Amino acid sequence: MKASGVNECLQLRTLAASEAVIERILPSRDLPRFAALVTPLEDLQVRLAFTEREDGQVSLVGQLQTRVALECHRCLEAVTIPLTAEFDVLIVRADEEATVLGADHDVMQVPTDEIGIGDLVEDELILALPTTVCAQADCSKAPQLTYPAAGATDQRKPDNPFQVLERLKQSKQK
Ligand SMILES: [Zn+2]
Repeated sequence: MKASGVNECLQLRTLAASEAVIERILPSRDLPRFAALVTPLEDLQVRLAFTEREDGQVSLVGQLQTRVALECHRCLEAVTIPLTAEFDVLIVRADEEATVLGADHDVMQVPTDEIGIGDLVEDELILALPTTVCAQADCSKAPQLTYPAAGATDQRKPDNPFQVLERLKQSKQK
């Protein structure tokens, strides 16, 4: 039985030799490391274009697209964002190959010629995640430009770890 979904097995050299373009819709929840970081809201759209360079190296241009919900580090609200990743890499097997080719090209290290499509794209997807979710003005906990008058006691410091914990508990209960 042929593996499908994120387990679909890709033969990298064969795909490159035939200049294959692969388009797939994958269930984002089946990417375990990715799904541990975000709440996937949509399937993952994957487009992979393989070519073989003159020196025999496998070249891969990929595009990934989905939508996720992330928790803002400041206000702990869930924020929905579109997530896209584009990469243009040479597939390398070993560390020394990565060092040589990596000097003038992005590389992706795949130790074998066969890899599941999920394993191939998951790192790129994780790398595409934003480091700040709602740092813009629309975050209710964005740094304020005005300060309370001197003498006014600040009852709710946003960085109080117990309050953060409390809010975490509350949001988990919802
Ligand atoms: Zn926020």
